[in-house]
Amino acid sequence: MSDSSKINTNAAAPDGYTGEGFFATKLDSVVGMARANSLWPLPFATSCCGIEFMATMASHYDVARFGSERMSFSPRQADMLLVMGTIAKKMAPILRQVYEQMAEPRWVIAVGACASSGGIFDTYSVLQGIDKIIPVDVYVPGCPPRPEQILDGIMKLQDLVRSESVRRRSSPEYTELLASYNIQ
Ligand code: SF4
Repeated sequence: MSDSSKINTNAAAPDGYTGEGFFATKLDSVVGMARANSLWPLPFATSCCGIEFMATMASHYDVARFGSERMSFSPRQADMLLVMGTIAKKMAPILRQVYEQMAEPRWVIAVGACASSGGIFDTYSVLQGIDKIIPVDVYVPGCPPRPEQILDGIMKLQDLVRSESVRRRSSPEYTELLASYNIQ
């Protein structure tokens, strides 16, 4: 008989650890909940979509309701990179450097048509979507997207973060994803 077959899944809780105030859960769920409700944004805003994000931050839309009011302009103290605006090819290495300086776990939202696909600027000097240089978790459509759409993007990201395994960042699939972008 293997050791795992001996585990009693109906074991009673030890004395002093039952009743009101106690519940059983998984570490993944607790970590996911904590991460999802404390995403610290790094706003990488280059043009008009950035103005919509300013409105999203302000009192009317109040991104603090989602635990994301703490802006960081230091990549090392942020875990949600919001890219808003046209990214010229000359700026692409800077954006990539910012991404690389963020610690794991880190997530990326492409806000608006320009960040998602180059938008109306189908021209030699504009990056046709930031996913050409870094992985993107959520795309927010619109030119510009309204603050409600940006909030919806953040909520979609929260869903991803909440359900992400604490081991995902060391999985072969994630390593392969980064390797496809030539990121260590
Ligand atoms: S998507 Fe539209 S609003 Fe946003 S940065 Fe591009 S041109 Fe400006």
